Amino acid sequence: MLDDFQEKAAALDESDPLRGFRDRFLVPDGSDVVAYLDGNSLGRPAVATAERMDRFIRQEWGHRLIRGWGEEWLDWPQVVGDRLGQVALGAAAGQVVVADSTSVLLYKLARAAVSARPGRGEIVLDVNDFPTDRYVMDGIAQECGLELRWLATEPAAGATVEQVADAVGPDTALVVLSHVNYRSGYLVDAEAITRIAHEAGALVLWDLSHTVGSVPVRLDEWNADFAVGCTYKYLNGGPGSPAFGYVNQRHHDAVRQPIRGWIGHRDPFAMGPGYEAAPGVRGMLSGTPPILAMLPLITGLDLLEQAGIDAVRAKSEQLTGFAVELAEAELVDRGVELLSPRDPKRRGSHITLRRHDFGEFIAPLWERGVIPDFRTPDGIRIGLAPLSTSFAELHRGLSVLTELVDERSER
Ligand SMILES: *Cc1c(COP(=O)(O)O)cnc(C)c1O
Repeated sequence: MLDDFQEKAAALDESDPLRGFRDRFLVPDGSDVVAYLDGNSLGRPAVATAERMDRFIRQEWGHRLIRGWGEEWLDWPQVVGDRLGQVALGAAAGQVVVADSTSVLLYKLARAAVSARPGRGEIVLDVNDFPTDRYVMDGIAQECGLELRWLATEPAAGATVEQVADAVGPDTALVVLSHVNYRSGYLVDAEAITRIAHEAGALVLWDLSHTVGSVPVRLDEWNADFAVGCTYKYLNGGPGSPAFGYVNQRHHDAVRQPIRGWIGHRDPFAMGPGYEAAPGVRGMLSGTPPILAMLPLITGLDLLEQAGIDAVRAKSEQLTGFAVELAEAELVDRGVELLSPRDPKRRGSHITLRRHDFGEFIAPLWERGVIPDFRTPDGIRIGLAPLSTSFAELHRGLSVLTELVDERSER
């Protein structure tokens, strides 16, 4: 059975229009990894990233020194943000910045949003959302005297349009949701949910951490208000690379974020006595931009732009489809449960499999060079970064997982 799938994997790789992109990523000689299935937590480095960082240090930083700030670096949060908006977010220029971490930008934008809806007392969010989203909103609720209204979503799915429609009303200030759930991979209908929240007079903040670089997004078309996301996942920005934040331009005059640092000031170098926010999305910045940490993101965006987000999405659906097919053929009747939607249109670029003893599988998987993600208490998450993952690699990884299930079942 697995042999048939091996042939199928080879055929899928052969006909994959993006197969050439795998060579654009750095796989060091002597790497012990036979299947990297966690590109949704930390993408691989691009080959060009190593060269770009070296060149930057020797030439740009080394030669320009402090002059680099005025010459161009101070503009990078917006220059790189605009590029990200164009390549991956469906956002026109002037609405995206690259800064901070996702957690910090979640805080800044959610605070800005609830301040723009005075007199409304609730934030709507998902019980199964990523921890940082839940924790940050809990903090804001305490700080601002708001209530949290939890959507009781299914663990193998995510927030449905009906659930949101039932939850929002005249007291809703803000709806905060992940577009792709970090565990189930469920892809919510963002356009419909945005519309429903707006009809209730509420604003929406989208967390695009598991979306950006794998699923096309049309923030302007959706009439979205705010969005944030990571760049170290499918955008290959590297460990701890900065986040991005989107603020629709119709909110630029009205919203103010809470961390009033000098870089978000209208004229940082005036060093004046009082704070006056910079116009537009630049007012969302707080402190000195992380220039070095944006370099890998720039090369990641080059690759994504060359591949095209629609082609990336097409391959992603095929990859997750193949993973589901393999899991259903080899694993699902052996105590393993699929914790993700079966419909490829309703999921992002990862799936989660669950078995009561999967917690004991990670060490032996790593020993055999297979690196998925583990989500406590019993979920193995198979993340499939379309530009760097082959069908053969996915097949190898799931074959090893199947062997381990066999070994344990025989005991
Ligand atoms: C990965 C992830 C984050 C991470 O936030 P950091 O501040 O970068 O640690 C936030 N939200 C979601 C939905 C994520 O998947």
